[in-house]
Amino acid sequence: MLEISNLTHTYGSGPSAHTALGGIDLRVAEGELVCIVGPSGSGKSTLLRSIAGLLRPTGGRITLDGTPVAQIPDDLAVVFQDYSRSLFPWMSVADNVSLPLRRKGQSRKQRTRSAAEALEQVGLASAGSKYPWELSGGMQQRVSIARALAYRPSLLLMDEPFGSVDAQTREDLEDLTLLVRGLHNMTILLITHDIDESVYVGDRVVVLSKAPARVVGDLRVDLPGP
Ligand code: ADP
Ligand code: ADP
Repeated sequence: MLEISNLTHTYGSGPSAHTALGGIDLRVAEGELVCIVGPSGSGKSTLLRSIAGLLRPTGGRITLDGTPVAQIPDDLAVVFQDYSRSLFPWMSVADNVSLPLRRKGQSRKQRTRSAAEALEQVGLASAGSKYPWELSGGMQQRVSIARALAYRPSLLLMDEPFGSVDAQTREDLEDLTLLVRGLHNMTILLITHDIDESVYVGDRVVVLSKAPARVVGDLRVDLPGP
């Protein structure tokens, strides 16, 4: 269970201070896929980066199964919108995917196998020896997702993960996310400004107000299953 209690974040101080998060309360059950929507500038990225431990909250508490998230960075993975900055250009696709697995103490052989498996899941079985810059944007984003999948985090954070790809790739990646979530029972928090996407992929849609952001809506989605 991810529990966020009265989370606040203020950028800067004094007269130029800007409060992005005005007290967020949110509980996400294990295995749930929650989409966060809200107007541009409402604090969605701030929320996600706070959970990821990339920003230190000004106030409040974020715990995963009772432990403050700042203490368990190895249980989290993040997928950003900007795939061009998330892959290391000097490493092959397979090496990009397998690198974080060293932190999990996997042997070289295990890492190679996990990377190959994840690349196969995202439809890039034959791209392992290529370099990121040899791939299209949509394919690079698949690699970022493969890396997160191979890592099997307890909590996967995705910030507009499909925002920079074409419509068909976007649909493919949405379906892929649902598939993978089903395989590994991951808890996923996904930011999107596309309300259609949020009801398609989410079990729940949480709506933020404009900054200072608070939760102003929380709807359960019940689409007929496939
Ligand atoms: P969203 O992801 O919903 O578009 P953000 O979390 O990026 O919103 O930003 C929320 C608010 O905080 C915005 O008004 C933005 O300009 C401001 N903000 C974001 N990052 C910073 C920063 N590093 N310094 C100052 N203000 C920031
Ligand atoms: P997004 O909408 O995806 O959050 P933004 O364009 O709001 O992206 O922010 C991109 C980057 O710029 C982020 O790292 C954010 O922290 C920073 N940023 C956003 N607004 C401000 C601001 N007012 N002052 C300083 N940095 C900001």
